[in-house]
Amino acid sequence: MSDIEKVAEGVVVIIHFTLKDESGKVLDTSDGDEPMPYLHGYDNIVPGLEAALEDKKVGDKLSVVVPPEEGYGFKSGAADQAIPRDSFPADMEVEPEMQFFGEGDEGMVPIWVTRVTDDTVYITLDHPLAGASLHFDVEVVALRAANAEELEHGHPHGLTGEEGHDH
Ligand code: ZN
Repeated sequence: MSDIEKVAEGVVVIIHFTLKDESGKVLDTSDGDEPMPYLHGYDNIVPGLEAALEDKKVGDKLSVVVPPEEGYGFKSGAADQAIPRDSFPADMEVEPEMQFFGEGDEGMVPIWVTRVTDDTVYITLDHPLAGASLHFDVEVVALRAANAEELEHGHPHGLTGEEGHDH
């Protein structure tokens, strides 16, 4: 039994979710899998969904439409950048929609691959869902207090808070 009654900052919220695009196509879901934990108030999930979950209780179900400005932002309109395929390790599989991290002005920034040819990889800083309205169906499965390490890291360590990871 958890003594946490509702979603608030510093609470690990465990949710089942389905994300659809405007046409109803499922983009991502925890259905058939373990529910997903996130740490509320620490930007683990898009702002629009995090705001909608505030004060929710175990068993609550909600459908939220998150506009781009509260989701993954808008497309920058910038052209994709081309980088030589051989700047990646030869044995590394590089595919469209793959995400990696690069050095930016303010630390590490996520970069997505848009297209791959024999000798060139095209990349963008735009999230693949930039510009999209996100249709979430969410159920709050469980709530628990975050432990000190999770609060320090700004993310949950698995469903129980005891899951190890390397950083
Ligand atoms: Zn951690």
